Amino acid sequence: MEYRRLGKAGIRVSALSLGGWVTYGKQVGDDVAQQCIEEAWNHGVNFFDTAEVYADGRSEIDMGKAFKNLGLKRSDLVIATKLFWGGKGVNDQGLSRKHIIEGTKASLERLGTDYVDLIFAHRPDNETPIEETVRAFNYLIDHGLAFYWGTSEWSAQQITEAHRVADRLGLVGPSMEQPQYNMFERERFEKEYAPLYRDFGMGTTIWSPLASGVLSGKYNSLTVPAGSRFALDDALMKSIANRYFATEEGKVKIEKTRALLPIAEQVGGTTAQLALAWCLKNPNVSTVITGASRKEQVTENMGALKLVDKLSPDVLEKIEKILSNKPDT
Ligand code: NDP
Repeated sequence: MEYRRLGKAGIRVSALSLGGWVTYGKQVGDDVAQQCIEEAWNHGVNFFDTAEVYADGRSEIDMGKAFKNLGLKRSDLVIATKLFWGGKGVNDQGLSRKHIIEGTKASLERLGTDYVDLIFAHRPDNETPIEETVRAFNYLIDHGLAFYWGTSEWSAQQITEAHRVADRLGLVGPSMEQPQYNMFERERFEKEYAPLYRDFGMGTTIWSPLASGVLSGKYNSLTVPAGSRFALDDALMKSIANRYFATEEGKVKIEKTRALLPIAEQVGGTTAQLALAWCLKNPNVSTVITGASRKEQVTENMGALKLVDKLSPDVLEKIEKILSNKPDT
């Protein structure tokens, strides 16, 4: 495993990591969650990502239970959770001081740990003054409930504002952002955020590197395999699936995935490994958060690391030709 600094922060995260969205606490049982975590751990993964909203908190419970059952030493782990959608109560949502502090304590309880290493604002909250949010995340850090705080899917402008406010107050600004980044979603990560890496040394923990599995090639024949994410009886998953199967733009993405197969074969890997290695190749990526509904997927995805060096300028150029979506920076 390769370990990368989280931007300019001192903490090191495994270049490949594992998250619990859709899967743990929901799609699969706690036994499978544990098998996936164990397999990732055995490959050197130290960073695990979850959120208070995932499976209404059950993702945190199942992941926390797995860490305990596996006897993993707390200081060897980098655990992250995210706050924004904590429940139905009027104060269980958003980034008020009340929800940030209460939400964190509830997450820690579910995870069975005294602190998380990273805590994220899962989305921006335009109704709460940024100063209140910055102060609340600093409270968490000052009280040892979290070590670093970050943002997820905030605009570059919102992140810059958070840094300005933190500077003015002598507080700590966000150390990392958690954006979507994959072969299909590039604009924000490669273009909009470019000044953040340079000016603030922001780290990144990127999500959906396989575009919910599409980039593994499993949907190449425009059918949905049983047991796959798009087969789930879930409104959000159905709407994501429809973006691929029911739109021209989506079908073009599946066509591009098909076209990537010969390149994957050329470098000795699978399409999933190629898509993950392509993300790893970007030096602004601190960690690629993978997802897995079974242990075998973890094993395959960890194999992406050995492909990174094979992505020569020539291979990357071939990939660019297929994707034809490079942002003009
Ligand atoms: P991916 O895009 O990598 O999708 C993972 C899913 O793809 C798996 O659950 C599995 O689904 C399928 N898959 C994975 N590997 C393979 C393989 N080798 N072959 C075939 N199918 C495969 O990542 P996620 O969308 O799961 O996102 C990863 C993590 O990022 C999340 O767990 C979460 O921690 C984080 N995240 C953060 C968000 C945010 O807003 N901050 C939003 C979304 C995710 P299946 O087998 O069911 O088809």
